[in-house]
Amino acid sequence: MKAHIVGGGFGGLAAAAYLILNAGLSGQDIAIYEAGERLGGAFSLAGSAAAGYILPTGSVFDAEFRCTFNLLATIPSTGDPAISVKDEFFAFNARDPFRDRVHILDRNGNVVHSPHFGLSVRDRLDLVRLALTPEAMLDRRRIEECFQPDFFTTEFWLLWTTIMGPLPQSSAMEMRRYMNRFLPLLPDLSTMSHVLRTPLDQYQALIVPLAAWLRPRGVTFLTGAFVRDIGFTATPGRITVDRLDYEHRGETTSLTVAPEDIVLVTLGSQAAGLSVGSMTEAPAPRQGGQDWTLWRRLAQGRSDFGNPGVFFGVVHLPNTQWVTFTVTTTGSEFFDRMTALTGSAPGSGGLVTLKDSSWLLTVTIFHQPEVAGQPPGTRLWWGFLLYPGRTGDFIRKSGNACTGAEILEEVLRHLRFDQQLDAIMASSICIPCNLPYVNSVWMPRTRADRPRPVPAGATNLGLLGQFAELPREVAFTIEYSARTAWEAIHRLLKRGPAPPPVYQGQYDPSALLAALKTLV
Ligand SMILES: Cc1cc2nc3c(=O)[nH]c(=O)nc-3n(C[C@H](O)[C@H](O)[C@H](O)COP(=O)(O)OP(=O)(O)OC[C@H]3O[C@@H](n4cnc5c(N)ncnc54)[C@H](O)[C@@H]3O)c2cc1C
Repeated sequence: MKAHIVGGGFGGLAAAAYLILNAGLSGQDIAIYEAGERLGGAFSLAGSAAAGYILPTGSVFDAEFRCTFNLLATIPSTGDPAISVKDEFFAFNARDPFRDRVHILDRNGNVVHSPHFGLSVRDRLDLVRLALTPEAMLDRRRIEECFQPDFFTTEFWLLWTTIMGPLPQSSAMEMRRYMNRFLPLLPDLSTMSHVLRTPLDQYQALIVPLAAWLRPRGVTFLTGAFVRDIGFTATPGRITVDRLDYEHRGETTSLTVAPEDIVLVTLGSQAAGLSVGSMTEAPAPRQGGQDWTLWRRLAQGRSDFGNPGVFFGVVHLPNTQWVTFTVTTTGSEFFDRMTALTGSAPGSGGLVTLKDSSWLLTVTIFHQPEVAGQPPGTRLWWGFLLYPGRTGDFIRKSGNACTGAEILEEVLRHLRFDQQLDAIMASSICIPCNLPYVNSVWMPRTRADRPRPVPAGATNLGLLGQFAELPREVAFTIEYSARTAWEAIHRLLKRGPAPPPVYQGQYDPSALLAALKTLV
């Protein structure tokens, strides 16, 4: 039996590991086809200290990433192979927890923090009502349909939108899932004390050790290999993959897939269409259609394969696009000023959101070093624009058309670091990264818009990642990708344990009580 995995992101790598660990496959019978030149998918690391690092993604995890940590308990850490990636992760977070003292700043530099996170009684009732509304009643509904307009100006919303990513026009169904799944975070949302992060950037902390564990087990990694199509044997009521066509270095190969083989396909990517700019250039817009081409083909004329058009397409850009930026600096001015402003040492402060910036700028100062091999004296920080289509307040351009220097200047002027501006600009390289479809996971959807990890009638096809439908789980997480992989393999091969249940705060008395105390 052979396993073919389409997509070499965290989900594809996790699938290969579960096939070995849970289903007893030999690594030599597993091949991963990755369209990009490197493994990692959305979790990438590029650049250098001299040219400026590029880290497209953020790092927000919690202790209930059950499938992920189950897997990472087996994978040795790259830094210290005597311990697992999971143990390294929890040891780091116990040693250096977030203790965010200044999460929301207004235009006058005042910290915004109030009882009940500024929620009115009506807002709190609306939150409870949404959490109790069955998903069946939330098809296509938007968050803004469930709350009063003032809700979106509260501290609660600013914390939620910047930690989790939703916009007012995002899916109410997904918001409901987030409230139940992340209920334990609620009382300490502003300090982020239960939010966890990787000890290094996500590529080095997660992708490198996973690939290093799979490689000696004989797993084939075919990078630069784009899977164009999958063929099926049509039998009434059943679909069985019998062919996989991929392009590699200009050649097309058509593989025969036996009925006992399995094919696991990553549908789409939050990093689709990613493009990178520089200090002097804005990222060039890209469409990134390749990441969902295969899904579109699979969904054509089949009702059980979801609806990729709900999540991907230029028409959605105002709702799905983010710009993130990574700043590499050799000066100390920015870090000194931020430590003085926030009272937090680098790495402990969590997110700082500049609430009156039209781009809704949020920055975070990493624990140093963020990248293994980062030279002494070089420091990294990161940020994102939740509304990159809007015009800046100091730089009168839309955020997605700005160079790294322009984004950095906008941040510094909002922070009122005008006196240090020249010194910081001179010692910093800011690299912007345009991510047109990050928030595709938050698009309003119906329950049928994402296919199940094993579509009805499929005998040897599983679907992975953010765009397969799992009950209860929240999509903007690696846990979602890991869980779809585990679920698909378990359903198709009926080997090994079933995935653990998704954590649900509404059934956890201590989480529920703490949340109610905060709200009431
Ligand atoms: C800005 C940002 C911030 C994030 N922050 C967090 C966070 O804080 N916490 C968290 O848990 N998660 C976060 N995520 C989400 C996390 O990155 C994803 O959950 C995870 O990387 C998804 O893994 P995946 O393998 O399912 O998909 P991806 O990582 O998207 O990988 C899919 C891969 O499939 C490949 N592919 C697609 N189609 C084909 C084809 N036809 N042939 C061959 N290859 C193909 C693509 O090239 C891609 O490499 C963030 C994502 C982004 C973009």
